[in-house]
Amino acid sequence: MRIRFPKHYTVLIARTGRSPITLSIHPLPIALGLTALVASPVVWIGSLLHNNNQLSERNEELTDTASQVLSELDSLDAEINSLKQRAGMDKDSQDSPTRVQAEIPPRGGPATTVDAETMLGAANRRLPSLEALLKGEVRPALEETLSAEAQREAAFPSGKPIAATASISSEFGLRPNPFGGRRYEMHEGLDFKGPIGQAIYATASGRIEKAQSGNGYGNHVIIDHGYGYETLYAHLSKMHVESGDFVTRGDLIGELGNTGRSSGPHLHYGIYRQGQPVNPRYYLKLEDSER
Ligand SMILES: [Zn+2]
Repeated sequence: MRIRFPKHYTVLIARTGRSPITLSIHPLPIALGLTALVASPVVWIGSLLHNNNQLSERNEELTDTASQVLSELDSLDAEINSLKQRAGMDKDSQDSPTRVQAEIPPRGGPATTVDAETMLGAANRRLPSLEALLKGEVRPALEETLSAEAQREAAFPSGKPIAATASISSEFGLRPNPFGGRRYEMHEGLDFKGPIGQAIYATASGRIEKAQSGNGYGNHVIIDHGYGYETLYAHLSKMHVESGDFVTRGDLIGELGNTGRSSGPHLHYGIYRQGQPVNPRYYLKLEDSER
């Protein structure tokens, strides 16, 4: 059955002693208006729900980011603790990697999540103290440690006393007497062959303990490197340092020669650790091909 809307209604309002008011009512605009009134809250609620979905997605993203920031902050905290140990500082339990997590107040049961704002707040409060710790304590202590290590490394006799091309003519250890006879002698160093005048270098930093002539070593230089190490450079033709001078690795200290108890021009190089001769090969890391 088809519903027919009348074209319009006419309403007459009678008034005593006066002419009536005539109202002409069209039903279609009224029906449309009423529909719009009913429909608008539905559209509004739908749009609200859509916005709410978007917000909760955004919130989830933020929470993920906040978790990531906290986790990175914890890694940084652990890194700082390992730097502190490297710098010889005491590990402070206050700065344990769990500190950021510990700042978050406990809430609810096991599955309860912490909101992004709380997590970011905790991270924000933690950052300045981490930065202050790094700049104020860890860095200076680390620099001191590294500088001490660098000094120790510079004083370690690992350099070469003569050009790498110079060949070794006698090894460390027992050897037959180079001046003949049947007896063996203990050779407390390495001998390098070379022409008279070839440059001889300090193998590490230190103070010249002796630069003198005499005894079997002829003109010889002894360097005290500290840390229990001394090096000896013997049979020199010339010495370019004096007792009390400070040298660093690679400084020219003299020239190869044939002075003292020597069977030909060569450098006798010795390393002493706590006063005991040790094999310089272990310190020079010479390749066999250089023999
Ligand atoms: Zn020798």
